[in-house]
Amino acid sequence: MERKTKKVLGYDVDLISFKDAVEKVLSNINAGIGMQIVTINPEMIELANNNDDYANVLKNAELVIPDGSGIKLALKLKGIVQEQIPGVDFSKELIKHCADKKIPVAFVGAKEEVVNKTCSNIKKEFQELNICYFRNGYFSNEEEEKIISELASTKPGLILVALGAPKQEYFITECRKYVKNAAFIGVGGSFDVWAGNVERAPEIYRKMGCEWLYRTIKQPERIKRIYKTLPMFLIKAIMDSKNN
Ligand code: UDP
Repeated sequence: MERKTKKVLGYDVDLISFKDAVEKVLSNINAGIGMQIVTINPEMIELANNNDDYANVLKNAELVIPDGSGIKLALKLKGIVQEQIPGVDFSKELIKHCADKKIPVAFVGAKEEVVNKTCSNIKKEFQELNICYFRNGYFSNEEEEKIISELASTKPGLILVALGAPKQEYFITECRKYVKNAAFIGVGGSFDVWAGNVERAPEIYRKMGCEWLYRTIKQPERIKRIYKTLPMFLIKAIMDSKNN
């Protein structure tokens, strides 16, 4: 399937439905084709604009799905209606298919009790799932080497990495050098959601594309992050709307 993308502030975003994106990942896993999935949001674009290494990670990812409503809006300004694909829902759907198809899955990231609870909750939901590896996201450089070699030997088809951006993308880039056949996805705070520590926004917020607003009300410490990036992103997106 040929990739259809559109640039948002210079970064390719895939124009793809939720269902087709899931199919693409599963077909790559089945074929043993390694890939990185980025769930892009305005903060990541801002980070990439200030850091060439991070920009290269975004540019080299095989699948870039629009996680945030900011990206959906930037595409709309270019006349494109693209379904928003929240990373937390997308990765859950991938896990479900991996359970059905007996594809081993690894979980790396979050605090020890969070990753433990995530795995036990996910296992309750998908009893068939083979969790071939899991560990918390607080490790040194020396430990990172060990984690990568453990991941290489347990051979997961799907590796979920919850270290937050940009850490998770850098970890994935390093890991891909040694674990070549897996699909990697950076999932940010998803383990906190699956562990039951952070609530998803009610349906009404999600439908209106305002999940970010709900998260900010619940976690006011996020205001600083949003305030720093969102207004500028919107101005840049309006200026970028005439570019292809
Ligand atoms: N985290 C981690 N190791 C670190 C820093 C962060 O495992 O060195 C985890 C943190 O515990 C949390 C996730 O990364 O579970 C980041 O969540 P955040 O809500 O910041 O991510 P977002 O969804 O906003 O990208």
